[in-house]
Amino acid sequence: MCGVFGVFGHAEAANLAYLGLHALQHRGQESAGIATSDGKQLSLYRGMGHVIDVFANPQIKRLAGTSAIGHVRYSTAGGSFLKNAQPLAVDYSEGSLAIAHNGNLTNAEQLRTMLEERGSIFQSASDTEVIVHLVAISKQTTIEDRVADALNQVDGAYSVTLLSQDKLIAARDPHGIRPLVLGRLDDAYVVSSEPTSFDLIGAKLEREIAPGEMIVIDKDGMRSSYPFGTKPRKMCIFEYVYFSRPDSVLDGVSVYEARKNLGRALARENKVEADIVVPVPDSGVPATIGYAEEAGIPFEMLLVRSHYVGRTFIEPQQSIRHFGVRLKLNPVGTSLRGKRVVVVDDSIVRGTTSRKIVKMLRDAGASEVHMRIASAPTSWPCYYGIDTPTRSELIASNHTVEEINKYITSDSLSYLPLEQMASCVSKAKVEEFDPEDGKTHLPVQNEALDKDSFCHACFSGDYPVRFEKQRGPRQMRLLDI
Ligand code: AMP
Repeated sequence: MCGVFGVFGHAEAANLAYLGLHALQHRGQESAGIATSDGKQLSLYRGMGHVIDVFANPQIKRLAGTSAIGHVRYSTAGGSFLKNAQPLAVDYSEGSLAIAHNGNLTNAEQLRTMLEERGSIFQSASDTEVIVHLVAISKQTTIEDRVADALNQVDGAYSVTLLSQDKLIAARDPHGIRPLVLGRLDDAYVVSSEPTSFDLIGAKLEREIAPGEMIVIDKDGMRSSYPFGTKPRKMCIFEYVYFSRPDSVLDGVSVYEARKNLGRALARENKVEADIVVPVPDSGVPATIGYAEEAGIPFEMLLVRSHYVGRTFIEPQQSIRHFGVRLKLNPVGTSLRGKRVVVVDDSIVRGTTSRKIVKMLRDAGASEVHMRIASAPTSWPCYYGIDTPTRSELIASNHTVEEINKYITSDSLSYLPLEQMASCVSKAKVEEFDPEDGKTHLPVQNEALDKDSFCHACFSGDYPVRFEKQRGPRQMRLLDI
């Protein structure tokens, strides 16, 4: 997972990118970067860590120009090193180009081999770099045709922003697996993975960038085209379950309401007598509110989260992750003592977190602990940009619910069937009030959504885009910087 941002036509482009990335920080915490253009040349600054730590005032000041793209990263393809941080920026025969990518290309290995055989030298282990090489060797003449040509050759998930000296290009893969939205800030155009960035900078959400759409923004305004053909909409359902921020509306669906609906359905799914419902913060909170409402059981915030550590799962080292769970959550012992507790989380991946939480609640005095998961069992790896482990590490891929219950030592465990998940998310379509015309509108697409409108491969194994098993980064570790 990653977050991308872009702005065109604003005197404060670098500052806006900084703020936009700050609102996307939840999408990746390993590295952050911004590339800007002053119309003649690109400037780039990238670093490892959180946006707020990477960018101090002098760095932002040096990023000159009125257009910018930015990126926050956590690694799905390529290791956690500065050379893999984005935006990637290059000079090639026709000018300069920077790119920021959210998603994962499923044919990157084959394309890289083909490109290397014809002489390309890769600077990073990131799948995104193949796009840059394909742009550079394209026979097309304009930058937009070169980008369309390159993106036509890649498969998988991509929501990308690209910056040349005088153009901002944003594109979303034909299935629209990862989100991408378009907004306006006065006369400037802005694009972002999620509209939370727009709220922060005071921009207005115009619409989603549609699956398969490429938009080009330059001094003459914005042009839209569909150079990659159209395919069935397959927005990642896990964005609604876990990844996106709850204050985002994505493809017309409120993430917060979707999560509440998931919790309500969960309460109906497998009823249990309990005294209190406790969320695993933060991602489990909206589902727990829905659960408590539906079940009529009091909601209690009895797991306190430290906000001074990142999302532990994102850290790539297993040793850090184990340490992270203990570092992140602490129970309110005095209020848990003797209570029958339902604890709600959005998902179980390896089972590590749930097991520790159940133990934590029991050690704090809970008399019963019932685990409820506001999604279906995660049984299949994601090849489209979410960092999930291999099948053998996914506990639900080789264990029954009863076995998982035993492993995490809960009194009972239940998940939500996929069909119900899809209808909970679909039901969360929202209309927004527009003060300009005094009417309510669906902010984006208006198609009916059902299970087939989503990519749910991590729950079903039903992969919308074919993929070859990838060999992973092949560069020598000695070169890692
Ligand atoms: P695990 O301990 O491996 O079972 O991880 C489960 C926890 O990780 C849950 O609390 C989820 O909220 C969270 N989670 C699930 N998927 C991801 C992901 N792709 N990246 C980061 N965190 C995740």
